Amino acid sequence: MISGFRDVTPQAIAELYDRRSERTAELLGGSIHFGYWPDPSEDASVAAASGHMTRLMTDALEVRPGDSVLDVGCGTGRPALRLARATGATVTGITLSGEQVRLASAAADAEGLADRVSFRIADAAELPFPPGSFDGAWLFESLLHMPDPRHVLRRIHDVLRPGARLAIANVVERAPLPAASRRALDTFCELNRIAAILPLADYPALLADAGLVVESVADVSDHSVPQTFRALCAALRTDGTEVPPEEREELRTLIDAMDRLTETPEVGYAIVVASKPRRPR
Ligand code: SAH
Repeated sequence: MISGFRDVTPQAIAELYDRRSERTAELLGGSIHFGYWPDPSEDASVAAASGHMTRLMTDALEVRPGDSVLDVGCGTGRPALRLARATGATVTGITLSGEQVRLASAAADAEGLADRVSFRIADAAELPFPPGSFDGAWLFESLLHMPDPRHVLRRIHDVLRPGARLAIANVVERAPLPAASRRALDTFCELNRIAAILPLADYPALLADAGLVVESVADVSDHSVPQTFRALCAALRTDGTEVPPEEREELRTLIDAMDRLTETPEVGYAIVVASKPRRPR
């Protein structure tokens, strides 16, 4: 763990996603990540915006049929299945949550993609793959859970073949937050087992430290953050009765925090793409 990071344990993350994955994915249009609205005025549905974000990540990897991709933090498997279908690649998804492995594997079976897309429990900090195993990897809104991103990026570097790309989609800090927004972000992180939201400006150094070269940095905040928070708040407000009584207080706290974050332009979202050099530096 690096100082300034919450000490979020793998067990706490697994517990959260074992309990909440199905419902959260439903609220977010099938996956568990922010959407991308090409027209920031929000005409598109959350599901369409979610699919658009996945397409941006898929394009960023530049993988081909037969290539092998590692999905670090695969959620319910939707992004991996879309990636596999769109590119013809083989995808291995890892997650800390047994329930997610179950949901994702069932989805792969249902879509007839189980021969190319598989899911298993593994910790990104201890990747169980030989060096150079993958032609691409992504961290699709999962790095924020990890208390030691530097270590994880080094491990991902090791399992990539030279020339392979890593695409990262993540919530980022664009500028220091005013106090009330900082408190809201802390609450949001606490309730979602998020270890840290890093400044976007920190990414190039983090990637360089792992031996990776930055290909592109896209700040997509204005197409993503307020729209996603607004949609989630609206959906959760109408959700009250389905939540067990003991979780209602927490839900209200979460909605209040996200309401504030809707109006916090310092909280952003970025897609950062890097590659492993063809020759060691
Ligand atoms: N990428 C998915 C899910 C994002 S939710 C999507 O876009 O829909 C965050 C995911 O990160 C969860 O699957 C969680 O289990 C995973 N995760 C968090 N920390 C992890 C770790 N240390 N190792 C592996 N997976 C991790």
